[in-house]
Amino acid sequence: MKKFLDENFLLQTKTAQQLYHEFAKQMPIIDYHCHLPQQQIAEDKQFENITQAWLYGDHYKWRAMRTNGVDEAYCTGAKNDWQKFEKWAETVPYTMRNPLYHWTHLELQRYFNVNEILNGSSARNIYDQTSSLLQTPDHSVRNLLRKMNVKVVCTTDDPIDSLEYHLQLKNEGFEIPILPAFRPDKAMDVASAPKFNAYVKSLEAVTNISISSFEDFLYALQNRHDFFASMGCGVSDHGLEEIYSDDFTGEEIESIFNKVHGGKELSLVEQRKFKSCMLLHFAEWDWEKGWVQQYHLGALRNNNSRMMQSLGADTGWDSIGDFSQGRALAKFLNKLDSDDKLAKTIIYNLNPADNELFATMIGNFNDGSVAGKVQWGSGWWFLDQKDGMTKQINALSNMGLISKFVGMLTDSRSFLSFPRHEYFRRIICNLFGEEVENGELPNDVKWIGKLIQDVCYNNAQQYFGWEDTIKQAQSSKFAATALK
Ligand SMILES: [Zn+2]
Repeated sequence: MKKFLDENFLLQTKTAQQLYHEFAKQMPIIDYHCHLPQQQIAEDKQFENITQAWLYGDHYKWRAMRTNGVDEAYCTGAKNDWQKFEKWAETVPYTMRNPLYHWTHLELQRYFNVNEILNGSSARNIYDQTSSLLQTPDHSVRNLLRKMNVKVVCTTDDPIDSLEYHLQLKNEGFEIPILPAFRPDKAMDVASAPKFNAYVKSLEAVTNISISSFEDFLYALQNRHDFFASMGCGVSDHGLEEIYSDDFTGEEIESIFNKVHGGKELSLVEQRKFKSCMLLHFAEWDWEKGWVQQYHLGALRNNNSRMMQSLGADTGWDSIGDFSQGRALAKFLNKLDSDDKLAKTIIYNLNPADNELFATMIGNFNDGSVAGKVQWGSGWWFLDQKDGMTKQINALSNMGLISKFVGMLTDSRSFLSFPRHEYFRRIICNLFGEEVENGELPNDVKWIGKLIQDVCYNNAQQYFGWEDTIKQAQSSKFAATALK
């Protein structure tokens, strides 16, 4: 019997072990999409205990605790940090076969050198041990990123965000570029007139542009897009149920904007037309600036209205939706491609039933101008686990080129979740290793090791064009040190 989570965790063959230990493991990390709070990086936050780092914003863990019958007071409620951690620790043995079980123990090992199994009886020890480490400068959030050999982080930001912390980090010469990503979901969400108009007001305030027409609205947003670019942003992101690609005319959009801006609610048809128009504008700006655009498609969000009312969004009431993705996605990408305005694009599906659809969709628009120009993103959210990643890697191998894949990202709100890159690397090394040993691939470990290193790091570095960004940030570190 193999030992639980030892150095050859998930690596079932000698070749897989060699691929991981000699090639994948050493590669740095580019986390091109996550939800880390940039303010905490700017402050170089020091957590007082592991509950703050692990449980404050993690709806994956809250869902598991609730399912285990733990009262909300221990998830998002008023119980103290130790009480919350104890309930989580008691839940962990019940999370076996959920990725949380692996992530939890990988994170304990990698950040804290804790090899014990977390459960009710080890809880106190592990809490004290990890918390005292988290209080040392060695475990400040910046050092947590350094520990994982992270080279770039992309946060997720609304167009009206000030990006003040990004600026602070840049001015300080932090050697890991913390770049913003432009996520304008709220700017196209016209489901509620009061909400949309409140957003327009904030946009006016931040841009100093008075908005009384659709043209003004676009101008103000584009102003923010330019500002993001000036802050080193090269990535946009959209979290949508589906791509909107309905037909519309300029006059229709103007009158839709005037209607909602005047406080009237829009019909579903009008909402879809507006969103279709906005998506095209955003995509054109991304193309003009040479950005990479990302589309996270298929989440059915905020399904529990009772819990939504008390806790708000992103607290664990979302699931996989069954939206129809293919036709509109193809129409949208085709429109951009036909106008010669298709930026580098990454599409992510949340419904695993769409895996092969997405794997084949990207091939429609890979025209040889850029390697892997249109990418199918890594298994995301509910699919970010061993089975989901394996299926994504296999479908992409079968229907595209896994060798040109830009690889894994954390998509996380936690500074402790970077071992997910390791998890992904072990899985892909295992898949290649098994096929080498079965005689399905040649025993050319050097070449396969190179392909794996590309997927782990090199492809992303090239695709996002971050080689110089990384080099400059590294040298500014030395400049900052020299100044002291
Ligand atoms: Zn995300």
